[in-house]
Amino acid sequence: MARLPQTTPAPQPIMVFMPQTSSKDASPGQAPTTTTAAATATPAPEQSSSTTAATDATVRPPPFAQPKLRLEVRDLAHPGATRFLASLDAAQVLSTAVARVHSLLYRPDAADYSPPPTRSVTVILRDMGGVAYTTGTELDGDHKEIHVSLAYVAGVSPASRTAAEITGVLTHELVHCYQWNALGTCPGGLIEGIADWVRLNCGLSPPHWQKKAGDKWDAGYQNTAYFLQYLEERFGSGTIPRLNEKLRGKHYEEKTFWTELLGRPVDQLWKDYVKSLEGGSKGQAVDEATQTS
Ligand SMILES: [Zn+2]
Repeated sequence: MARLPQTTPAPQPIMVFMPQTSSKDASPGQAPTTTTAAATATPAPEQSSSTTAATDATVRPPPFAQPKLRLEVRDLAHPGATRFLASLDAAQVLSTAVARVHSLLYRPDAADYSPPPTRSVTVILRDMGGVAYTTGTELDGDHKEIHVSLAYVAGVSPASRTAAEITGVLTHELVHCYQWNALGTCPGGLIEGIADWVRLNCGLSPPHWQKKAGDKWDAGYQNTAYFLQYLEERFGSGTIPRLNEKLRGKHYEEKTFWTELLGRPVDQLWKDYVKSLEGGSKGQAVDEATQTS
């Protein structure tokens, strides 16, 4: 329940460290073998839009199988339930978010296109602390549950941000339904950073996020997300999908992982990133007091 100290009125958008998705539940089902999901053949590469070009569907398989999406409201009388239902069309928001997660984490034209075989996602709105977390169901890790706090939804401030905030939280959690996790050995900070990197690239970063260097590369959440964005820009579009792919089916070992992926250790890359912030983009880099350096 890592609720981080927060200065903004809105509570921390994503809470709990959810290794569950990754380590406990998801990985046994997900990773050990190679290609689970459909075909390597190529659906049209997409931008972030949710539309999927179906023009030559005869040749290309669908870009990915949409999971069965469910919504479960455990307390309809809760103000958070009222606000959730009034603020967004859950079916539309969820299916669009799934499509975006796919388009950002997987490149359909890549030979190694192989998302996990997540078959269903159930969003459960319930009275609980924190913000949200994702887990596999007990019986089958391919069926995911995203638990969202009704109190959190009720408290999003300003209220006009409700739809954007919920969409951002759901997008973050959906990443946990579709990312690889090195058989449960990926550092939690990297798992969370990838989730927020996707959120960032969906244009759903909340106002309190700051592009600044925290004290370490794997501090997680937006701290790591902006670092990953730096890598994506420096090493080219598709870098983070490659990183995600490299987390599939084998254990994470820091030195070899980063050296094989980008030709140098992550500490070096982090130093380069910090330097780039100091040098280039001061305006946006140092708004808040930095934690350590
Ligand atoms: Zn998360």
